[in-house]
Amino acid sequence: MAKRTKKYDIFIVAAILLFAVIMIFLNLLIPQKGIIGVKVTIDGVLAVSISQDGLYPVEKDGKHLLTVEFYQGKARVKESTCDNQICVKTGWISNTNQTIVCLPYKIVVEPIGGKNTDGVDIITW
Ligand SMILES: [Zn+2]
Repeated sequence: MAKRTKKYDIFIVAAILLFAVIMIFLNLLIPQKGIIGVKVTIDGVLAVSISQDGLYPVEKDGKHLLTVEFYQGKARVKESTCDNQICVKTGWISNTNQTIVCLPYKIVVEPIGGKNTDGVDIITW
C-alpha cells in the first residue's frame, strides 16, 4: 500500500529528472542563434511585441501580471505575480526553439526571428 505509493513517487521523480537531463542535452545540441525580439501573447492574443532591449510590463484589465526583459538577443520573465513562478524559473531564452510559458496567466513569450535559412533567397555567382 504505502510501498506502492513510494515506488510510484520515485518513478515520477526519475521521470522528471530524466526529462530535465534531456532538456539540458537538447539545449546543448541546438546551435545558439540570436533572436531579434519576442512577442508576448495572453490567451493567444498579442499583448506586447518586443524588439528593443528593455523591461516590458505585461498587464491585463489593468492588473500587472509580469515583466518581460529583453536584453541583447535574450529574453526572460524578470518577475511575475503568478502562483507557481515557473515562467520566472525558466530563465533566459535565446533560441527560436524556446518559449516561456506562464500557465496561470496563459501567457506565452515567443521568440521572433533568428531564422537563418528559411526564406532566404540569395544567388551566389
Ligand atoms: Zn508564471
